[in-house]
Amino acid sequence: MPKGQHYGRTQTRAYTSEYHRIFANTFKNLLTVPFGNYSLNADFLSNEHQKFKLTNLECGVRLMTFTINDKPHKIALIIDKRSASNKLYITCPYCHKQRQSLYAIKYAYGCRQCIGLHYASQSERPNERLMRRIRKLRKELWGYDWPDVNNMFEQVVYWPKPKWMRWKTFEHKRGKITELENKYWPMVDTQMKAMFGHNFMPDC
Ligand SMILES: [Zn+2]
Repeated sequence: MPKGQHYGRTQTRAYTSEYHRIFANTFKNLLTVPFGNYSLNADFLSNEHQKFKLTNLECGVRLMTFTINDKPHKIALIIDKRSASNKLYITCPYCHKQRQSLYAIKYAYGCRQCIGLHYASQSERPNERLMRRIRKLRKELWGYDWPDVNNMFEQVVYWPKPKWMRWKTFEHKRGKITELENKYWPMVDTQMKAMFGHNFMPDC
């Protein structure tokens, strides 16, 4: 193999153009409208991806809560006061980072990085590194096509054993992933508290 070239990559990659996106700059009016139930009025989105409840956190941050597949997906509206233009960002329900846009996938909204549309950067935070490791181990066990393989809200403890695998091997591998999942959420919690104060987690 010639130096500097890679062959044999068979993993299929998703491309960002296949997904619909919502953009932070289209939500500016939500900073001043009354709290309550709203809809995005976008035909390309499912009903559940359109309807949300606008609420306020005690720290003053406004929050959109979408109920998708019976689970709450919380997206905060954050104004970056460091920039002169007071640019508006929306937070990813998974990594809670400020983003200019989020992608609509089947049962969620997520940022490009969280839904695996490109390779992780080297400057990722420890919890992102852990998340990537969990997803990698999940894919080794259940495959890339398993519906919730990237969904950190789903815990592998309820996922079925692949037919070909011995129970002992399966329980060992699944136990390892569960152990990492148990480490993951406290890390996310700490990061969220650092970003939003102590008022982010409770429903309000
Ligand atoms: Zn994200």
